[in-house]
Amino acid sequence: YAAKRRHGGVTGYDASLDEGDASRLSLQSELRQGIERGELVVFYQPKVDVATRMPCGAEALVRWQHPERGLLAPDVFIPLAEETGLIDLITAEVLDQALAQIARWAELHHELPVSVNIPARSLSDATFPATVAAALDRHRVRPELLTLEITESAVIADMMRAGEVLGGLREQGVNISIDDFGTGYSSIAHLRDMPPHELKIDRSFVMKMCENSRDETIVRAVVDLARNLRLRVVAEGVETESALQALDELGCHEAQGYHISRPLPAADLTAWLAGAASGTAVGAV
Ligand code: C2E
Ligand code: MG
Ligand code: MG
Ligand code: MG
Repeated sequence: YAAKRRHGGVTGYDASLDEGDASRLSLQSELRQGIERGELVVFYQPKVDVATRMPCGAEALVRWQHPERGLLAPDVFIPLAEETGLIDLITAEVLDQALAQIARWAELHHELPVSVNIPARSLSDATFPATVAAALDRHRVRPELLTLEITESAVIADMMRAGEVLGGLREQGVNISIDDFGTGYSSIAHLRDMPPHELKIDRSFVMKMCENSRDETIVRAVVDLARNLRLRVVAEGVETESALQALDELGCHEAQGYHISRPLPAADLTAWLAGAASGTAVGAV
């Protein structure tokens, strides 16, 4: 595969990966092997409280440490994993690693809530709440420290089932976030029928909000919608100080983006947290 280099040494998506069934099939079997061999690595990107600029959480973002091709970004393998069902193995693995990390940070006196991405298809799995409960138990992590970010990459087929699964997760005390809000299949009707705890504004609206007044209007509308529904609201893709300031003025609760920090290996985030505690980290990128 002629995948090309992207920021931070992570190899990003390349159309050549779509070529032909043979390469898809080999990627699929390599991925299954890679998961079994423990090649999935979880990076963490911190989020800050917009008003205080103090760290308030982190998002777990998976990478694949491929033996020949280096560190692969999720857009290279998550779509394929979603098509083939391997995504369930990935979800379980990332959840397990993230919960172990929450426990480690707690030992270092960083009580850091962590968000884990799950595909909407997990909401059609009636056993999913029990799987999450068992993982929390195994790592002795309080459910309040876990947020599940749901991205809808397809229409949810069975709304009744999805409602039950979300209800089961909520009852345990796990937080639910709607990721990439405003894009894809995420629907405002879900805010009425299956209310989450948090909305995450898609980075495509946030990245140019200071240059494009339509983007700014959309960000403002989502912040107002979330606040009026008493939901937390997070902006992803915060790349500049001016965006962070604009979000503060709009009343957005939390921010995540390259201006604050890129996604980091766990040990690097631990160091970043120590820097933030001594008041030096935010904006120092
Ligand atoms: P996402 O959940 O919306 O995650 C945010 C993505 O935006 C991450 O890309 C992050 O590195 C990137 N990002 C953060 N700040 C900035 C910024 O300031 N500017 C720009 N341009 N980008 C920024 P990443 O890590 O490549 O992940 C891409 C997507 O892959 C994620 O989007 C998520 O949908 C999916 N993904 C990642 N990890 C997992 C996982 O464990 N499970 C599942 N199901 N999906 C995952
Ligand atoms: Mg996410
Ligand atoms: Mg997102
Ligand atoms: Mg996004």
